[in-house]
Amino acid sequence: MTAEQLRKNLLALRERLTTSQASQRDSLTSESGRFTARAPINMAEQASDEQELDMMVSRLNASSETLAEIDDAIGRIDAGQFNVCEECKSEIGERRLAVQPWARLCVKCKRKLEEDV
Ligand SMILES: [Zn+2]
Repeated sequence: MTAEQLRKNLLALRERLTTSQASQRDSLTSESGRFTARAPINMAEQASDEQELDMMVSRLNASSETLAEIDDAIGRIDAGQFNVCEECKSEIGERRLAVQPWARLCVKCKRKLEEDV
């Protein structure tokens, strides 16, 4: 996965989370219909990416914490640091980034962290 693709995924994810936050907030009002439309993302040519994003969004709570993580990740991409583990400085695997594009830690360090808790 290139930085460009990852950035695009993150931006799309961010937009969807923002939209789903808005629709959650709005669902109690009579205008909710406006927000049930799919996010206006031009990714029609990438059907599988689209499905992956949908899955990601459904797994996530549209929390501001997640949005902050995504913003951070976009910042790291812009700085050319998106796939470097913050802990051991080794490269974060592509498969991990596919599942969690905003990952800060490689699988090993993540596991270590979870075991420590
Ligand atoms: Zn690491």
